[in-house]
Amino acid sequence: MRTFHYRRAHAIDDAIEIARDAQAAIIAGGTNLLDLMKLQVATPSQLADINHVGFREIEDSPDGGLRIGALATNTETAVHPRVRRDYPVLARAILAGATQQLRNKATTGGNLCQRTRCYYFTNIDQPCNKRQPGTGCGAIGGVARLHAILGTSDQCIATYPGDMAVALSALDATVHLRSAGGGERSVPVRAFHCLPGDTPWRDTVLAQGEVITAVTLPPPVGATQLYRKVRERSSYAFALVSVAAIVALDGGRFSRADLAFGGLAHKPWHDPRIGDALIGQAPSPELFDAAADILLDGARTDSDSAFKVTLARRTLHAVLSQVTETAR
Ligand code: SF4
Repeated sequence: MRTFHYRRAHAIDDAIEIARDAQAAIIAGGTNLLDLMKLQVATPSQLADINHVGFREIEDSPDGGLRIGALATNTETAVHPRVRRDYPVLARAILAGATQQLRNKATTGGNLCQRTRCYYFTNIDQPCNKRQPGTGCGAIGGVARLHAILGTSDQCIATYPGDMAVALSALDATVHLRSAGGGERSVPVRAFHCLPGDTPWRDTVLAQGEVITAVTLPPPVGATQLYRKVRERSSYAFALVSVAAIVALDGGRFSRADLAFGGLAHKPWHDPRIGDALIGQAPSPELFDAAADILLDGARTDSDSAFKVTLARRTLHAVLSQVTETAR
């Protein structure tokens, strides 16, 4: 680990001021950043510790939704009574990730900003366009079992590794940001993470010096919610495929179908065409196949990742079967 300056911020604007320096990094739980610093994948010259600036509350929103502070820990969010009652897909997604110790430290904002676990990204001896632009991509033609099959580019096939954001995408949550001078903006979580394209080093739409202050959830709708994560082992492993599903039936037909997928792309994958195809239709294996066809339209695989096409299709089938049985 290289030496760095540590500064404890006492107000969010102090942290924003420090983070305007491109060589600075903001640290909250540190569960991803410290690993990257030990590996010299991240080498910030200074750290702005934001653990003492507030933004930890989880509170009702005026519209009946829920506002989760950026510094609320994953554990605090997963066990919050309103999350458990109204947004169980979020609680289940969080509890499917990492370990209890990590969830006790990891925060809402940090979870959204966590970086890919691509083996070539975390090994500084390997080429990686994300870590060092222009050096190439070791995963393309290399070991790519964990890698993306949707929305990839010729420069990067990394996956977004998290679970929480997959549930937030299905819930159509909003991310709230603050920048220098008190400027604020809100971004739908579905537009917060980027696809790699020609700028694979860019994971999110966060600008330099901009920080996450909160995530808001829309009012609950009483639909059936499910999060299923398929992984190499039953705990402490990243998703090969995950599905967050929020489904309602009316008269035996889909009246709501919000689905988001993890483990398949550089961001939580949400394709509105899937919901459009399901709404108004009666559940059936043929309909679930049609939804899978839409999901996997344009999938690009190699010999390592080809299994994900079958796995994603089967997982979507299983999730839709289970969630529609529960919703009846
Ligand atoms: Fe780097 Fe992306 Fe290639 Fe992994 S897939 S080596 S993160 S460029």
